[in-house]
Amino acid sequence: MVERLFQLAPAPINGDGRFAPSPTGPLHLGNLRTALLAWCCARSNGGRFLIRIEDLDQERVRPGSATQQLGDLAALGLEWDEPVVNQSDRMALYDDAIESLRAAELLYPCWCTRAEIRGASSAPHGEPAHYPGTCRELTTAQLQERRASGRQPALRARGGQAEITFLDRVHGERTDLVDDFVVARNDGAPAYHLAVVVDDAAQALSEVVRGDDLLDSTAAQCWLQIQLGLPRPSYVHLPLLRDSDGKRMSKRDSSVTLDGQAELGHAPLQVRSELAASVGLCEPDEPLDDDQLLSRFSSILVESTE
Ligand code: GLU
Repeated sequence: MVERLFQLAPAPINGDGRFAPSPTGPLHLGNLRTALLAWCCARSNGGRFLIRIEDLDQERVRPGSATQQLGDLAALGLEWDEPVVNQSDRMALYDDAIESLRAAELLYPCWCTRAEIRGASSAPHGEPAHYPGTCRELTTAQLQERRASGRQPALRARGGQAEITFLDRVHGERTDLVDDFVVARNDGAPAYHLAVVVDDAAQALSEVVRGDDLLDSTAAQCWLQIQLGLPRPSYVHLPLLRDSDGKRMSKRDSSVTLDGQAELGHAPLQVRSELAASVGLCEPDEPLDDDQLLSRFSSILVESTE
């Protein structure tokens, strides 16, 4: 499966990579497989492998979760380069980026609630609703009225359905439209797209390896890179690991965590082999040390792109 996953990758993949978990609970096997492959991509060519804790959504952060996630990565033998960074320590970087977007007149204040956006949209239930443009061109009087309400606005970027084309090493060339999206929430916290783009550039990452649930986020992030004059990393969006019923793994199912696996008698390095086996790197019960795993990964990539 690795050859299928990376069939579009010029071999060898090289550069520095990262894993960027949100500390909202234990990592499940799907997250761990993404981490394993991100580590393989970075390390197979001697690149740095950085960990970034994405802890900006304070309501969802669970105390102790980041430490547990790092413990799980260490137990799988996925060594990283220090320092581990927390997004919550990097506010000044995000503020600077928001300021330059504001100076370029690419932002506008938006008072819409999620329910209002959904109500105004024809998106089928469960699909992300497109922003209907309610606050996009407010008159001075309308702005004053909303400001007087005392409710804090979010800041929205003028994506304006711009067409963005990018190359993903698994999914090929994609062209997506960029909706007007939030870059700063109404509680002042920088939004995910903004923080990720700023950090991927500040950490000089050349490769973003992550789950394909984020494939649809990529065009907005490329748009931000263009507006902020930042380099574009290459993208690898991996299919999410499914459970045996073909369903997306849920953090609520405790057997899909490393602790849960330990209770079933599966030691971390056994889990690592099972995860590597799920992409065809080895047999599920084959113990592989780091060098073997990395050289298996590289040779499969080279073969598949020759
Ligand atoms: N923090 C995000 C997550 O845990 C990943 C963000 C990214 O890799 O760009 O889903």
